[in-house]
Amino acid sequence: MTDAPDLFEVRNPATEEVIASVAMASVAETDAAIARAKAAYATWRAVAPADRARLLRAFAAAVDADRDHLAALEVENAGHTLGNARWEAGNARDVIEYYAAAPERLFGRQIPVAGGIDLTFQEPLGVVGVIVPWNFPLPIAAWGLAPALAAGNTVVLKPAELTPLTALRLAELALRAGLPEGVLTVLPGRGPVVGHRFVTHPDVRKVVFTGSGRVGRSVMAGCAEQVKRVTLELGGKSANIVFADADLERAAATAPYAVFDNAGQDCCARSRILVEQSVHDRFLGLLEPAVRGVRVGDPADEKTEMGPLISAAHRERVASYVDRVAFRGTAPEGPGYWYPPTVLADVGPDDRAFTEEIFGPVVVVVPFRDEAEAVRIANATDYGLAGSLWTRDVGRALRVARGVEAGNLSVNSHSSVRYSTPFGGFKQSGLGRELGPDALAAFTETKNVFIATEEPPA
Ligand code: NAD
Repeated sequence: MTDAPDLFEVRNPATEEVIASVAMASVAETDAAIARAKAAYATWRAVAPADRARLLRAFAAAVDADRDHLAALEVENAGHTLGNARWEAGNARDVIEYYAAAPERLFGRQIPVAGGIDLTFQEPLGVVGVIVPWNFPLPIAAWGLAPALAAGNTVVLKPAELTPLTALRLAELALRAGLPEGVLTVLPGRGPVVGHRFVTHPDVRKVVFTGSGRVGRSVMAGCAEQVKRVTLELGGKSANIVFADADLERAAATAPYAVFDNAGQDCCARSRILVEQSVHDRFLGLLEPAVRGVRVGDPADEKTEMGPLISAAHRERVASYVDRVAFRGTAPEGPGYWYPPTVLADVGPDDRAFTEEIFGPVVVVVPFRDEAEAVRIANATDYGLAGSLWTRDVGRALRVARGVEAGNLSVNSHSSVRYSTPFGGFKQSGLGRELGPDALAAFTETKNVFIATEEPPA
């Protein structure tokens, strides 16, 4: 007698319709996937650097050729707007292509020492487990797998239960591009089953986790048992700081995108707008039409700027933070997990809406008196992932950017992510860095080898 498969119904969040039924892996299937990844590691790490680079470039090209298909899948599965989904597929391609250059550039060092020659080598770790959330399924998968594979590791990747479709497609594309069997395995499954097994299995040498602080802390504690390497990306409560001397029109016109993009389900969302007291009312006057004007609706429509939330349960959680609405935009009635872009007023530093990550299209606006107070309010949270500041004063821009405890800051812009620069958080926003050269280093161990060239003194 065989057990019935554990099937998960994947829904389109814009229509609530079931679009796929995906088998969730068991612990035994996870163990088998890890064993295959371990076997593949023995050959993958020995592939000549130029050949590993060629295979990764072919993988990037396969993702590029499949861009429209990947984007359409993400529109349907995650409710992302078509424009965003196209960008995400392009980002996944860029990240894989960027790290394809790495195998031939994983340089060691030669360190001057007495009595011989000292060499360092950057060596892979082994099997890496990547645990992906539902908010950016495709880019976050690529950010984990690409530097890991480039450094010579093999990868088992678990997508979020709600959004497995683009990751499954990535695995097909990797095989089509010629990556050997077992080098990249995508294993849909439940967090406490498959994700937890990555943490406890002794042959998984590193876990890369993106998601909630609650689960991230348990992953870190579990990894500590085996001193397992871990990278954590756990969200944020980022500030968008607007000084009186800023280009207020631009700051107000872009502020909605800085928080409502991806319906606010973005770890870098600037969900606290801090505005210098003297321009607070004027800024709100500019912000209101911009918020009311956000086009919320069918994510497949080219003109749509914001889609639905991921699930009914998540919408309920978002709504639990909302009272004292200053103004808000509109959203369709349903079906679909819609929520309107919402601005809250009179929110104090002790309110949940000020301190906790809402992960939805909800923003608070808080006045400040001067530079020191702006930095103090920005830092009055356990998070420290991202942030923006708007000013025409270069000195102030640098002072405030240095004063805010966050890993990714932008001045007169709300951008956070470039594939070639480090991304990650201070404080409880996480541990370690993704993207750029930092991520590559995080998927290797440094080995030191000393070769004696002289007889030791008698
Ligand atoms: P979550 O932390 O529960 O899930 C993230 C991933 O971890 C999923 O793949 C999930 O299956 C897996 N997981 C769950 N339990 C696990 C376990 N015990 N061991 C190993 N892996 C496990 O997050 P969620 O429930 O999807 O979202 C809840 C909140 O987390 C959101 O509302 C938001 O505040 C935050 N979040 C942050 C990010 C981010 O980018 N940092 C992403 C998603 C969610």
